[in-house]
Amino acid sequence: MQFIDLQAQRHQIAKEIDNAIANVFEHGHFINGPEVKDLGEKLAGHVDANHCIPCGNGTDALQIALMALNIGPGDLVFVPAFSFFATAEVVSLVGATVAFVDICDKTYNLCPIALESALLNHAKNPKGRPAAVIAVDLFGQSADYTAIKDICNRYDLKLIEDAAQSFGATFHGRACCNFGDIATTSFFPAKPLGCYGDGGAVFCNDAELASMVRSIANHGQGEHKYDNVRIGMNSRLDTVQAAILIEKLKLFPQEIANREMVAKTYTEALEGAYVTPFQAEHSRSVWAQYSLLPINHSREEIINKLKQAGIPTAIYYPRALPDLPAMSEEITYSAENARKLSQNIFSIPMHPWLNSDNQQRIIEELRNAVS
Ligand SMILES: *Cc1c(COP(=O)(O)O)cnc(C)c1O
Repeated sequence: MQFIDLQAQRHQIAKEIDNAIANVFEHGHFINGPEVKDLGEKLAGHVDANHCIPCGNGTDALQIALMALNIGPGDLVFVPAFSFFATAEVVSLVGATVAFVDICDKTYNLCPIALESALLNHAKNPKGRPAAVIAVDLFGQSADYTAIKDICNRYDLKLIEDAAQSFGATFHGRACCNFGDIATTSFFPAKPLGCYGDGGAVFCNDAELASMVRSIANHGQGEHKYDNVRIGMNSRLDTVQAAILIEKLKLFPQEIANREMVAKTYTEALEGAYVTPFQAEHSRSVWAQYSLLPINHSREEIINKLKQAGIPTAIYYPRALPDLPAMSEEITYSAENARKLSQNIFSIPMHPWLNSDNQQRIIEELRNAVS
């Protein structure tokens, strides 16, 4: 059994993908080919954003977003204490300072109360200028953008949505990848919409910001390729990956429905035996991960029992971000929930093509492990 069965997914549309790749090989526009532009338009349409700029990966997307918003040395960027490393890493990469804020103990997303409290404390002890917030839609569920946007407006902060795990999710009927000043996603193979290599995208609604993003992703280009007007990056989505994503996007609505079914089955069978994922009201997760907390058992004991039964698990994430060695110089306002979570959480197989026999076996072993 696989944790995420990418081959099962590929077999659904293998011929279409093979043809799409063959097409690119034939026309030969490997960089910025027509599929890249086509995909950008399709992705923007999918989340109802005015602009989508595909790029090299989800980490670059975040860095490009920070650069386009002119975040740099002297700036403080508020980041949830529980996420993948890249969310914080990019802040350091652009020379700004990370300010960690705790997550909600239910949704595991940035806690608006903790954020406001950090901002209030900051006034007493200023280190850098509060400039931006990066909110993460962890495990596929949207952060609380009603509350977070309100805070960003009141404190004059830019808002970046790290939607690496939430392309396809919604919050109050509105699509993720379309909150804040700018949003980013990742097409890393294991993400809900993954390509067959690295890939990412930046989304925004402002035309000027979009052209800044385009420029930064292409060596700071101005009027043309050899008119470099600023320092940028070389971050482009390969045409081959764009062609693959165009095909995978067609299957995506079906995959979201399948993911929801898998999640529903897990929750109905495991509620009471484990702490199952909390679904906020008006929020539709895309289930990038299905994560559990043990109630009266140790995580290691459960994971070992599953392993003996041939069932893979994963730990996202084994350490809170402020506790990573690379983050030791940054500022932490609060991280209690993040630390507790990192010691207890684990994720079980979740993908759109998990068959019901396998899912029942996973459920049975999980229930046995705590009975
Ligand atoms: C995967 C991920 C990223 C980075 O995306 P890459 O495409 O791997 O660079 C950033 N933030 C979060 C929350 C992620 O899960």
